[in-house]
Amino acid sequence: MSADGASPRREIRVDASAIRQNLERMRRLVAPAQTMVVVKADGYGHGALAAARAAADAGAEWLGTADVREALALREGGTRAPILAWLHGAAPDFRTAVEAQVDVGISTLAQLEAAGAAGATVHLKVDTGLSRNGIPSSLLPRVAERAAELERTGRIRIRGVFSHLANADHEASREQLARFTAALEVLASEGVEPELRHLAASEAALTLPETRLDLVRIGIAAYGLPPDPQIDTAALGLRPAMTFAAPVVAVRRIAAGEGVSYGFTYRAERPTTVALVPLGYAEGVPRAASGRAEVAIGGVRYPVAGRIAMDQLVVDVGDDVIAVGEDAVLWGDPATGAPSAQEWADWASTIGYEIVTRVGGRALRGDG
Ligand SMILES: *Cc1c(COP(=O)(O)O)cnc(C)c1O
Repeated sequence: MSADGASPRREIRVDASAIRQNLERMRRLVAPAQTMVVVKADGYGHGALAAARAAADAGAEWLGTADVREALALREGGTRAPILAWLHGAAPDFRTAVEAQVDVGISTLAQLEAAGAAGATVHLKVDTGLSRNGIPSSLLPRVAERAAELERTGRIRIRGVFSHLANADHEASREQLARFTAALEVLASEGVEPELRHLAASEAALTLPETRLDLVRIGIAAYGLPPDPQIDTAALGLRPAMTFAAPVVAVRRIAAGEGVSYGFTYRAERPTTVALVPLGYAEGVPRAASGRAEVAIGGVRYPVAGRIAMDQLVVDVGDDVIAVGEDAVLWGDPATGAPSAQEWADWASTIGYEIVTRVGGRALRGDG
């Protein structure tokens, strides 16, 4: 979409320096473990290429994506860093991944054979309890034997072995770590000795040092949001990289008793001023936050009045004087007075991850 001179400026501002600084923090914290920056889902809504560049600037060694397609887009954008992609279709053809020097995560025997056919560099993914993808322990001896054979005959290179945590609690994570260690032993008994063993994503990397192993996979923390609402990211020196904002496009005075937005779930208790913001659930503003959410205008927080609609929401600014064109910030860095994406998550009964990855619609991404 290009500017037309008439449409409102709905902006997803991304501060790449925040991503870089968050990663510098994380890297200091987890050293000597290496860091893989997870840029799947378009860099959690921040722009995968911008996130990849910030990762390189921070000295992060690896990039991670879910799909190979996401990894190829990074290569097309000029990204040279090692990339791992781990979620594939039912009968994957890894030749394009191999040509682009993208490592692939392997969760099944069929994927292992596909890796052998393509000559891929792989990270074997073992299931340590999440019951999603990953090789279940019952199949591991068979897969380990075949992987070792493919490696001996030069058809694959096994660079890593990894698993993913449920982040239920520390006890459950330690149990998964024990299962991971057992899986590494099964692999070692077949002669598979990977250079990179990795388990922790943001939460465990921050809170459970023994899970850091050779490498940590950092997603949400890179973008400055907590993997768990209990974690105080600001105290850790992490700050949100995304600001989601649009200018106020209309301001009006309404009388006591007047309703606002669909269903009249909100009625003015006294004469008040309402400001119209051209962002709605089509841009990823969660409608479920209606009646609870707040928006910052001029660094002051005001309640959202009534239902969040598809294209717009209304803010009750009381008797404050707000001009058309003023910046209304839905979420950003709380240090600026804005609500955080985590607060929006709380208001919508979801997680910060969903708030930032769903942002889009007619909003355009720009530099913060
Ligand atoms: C998404 C993902 C991550 C990153 O998780 P965060 O909690 O965002 O740090 C790491 N590893 C795997 C396998 C993932 O799917």
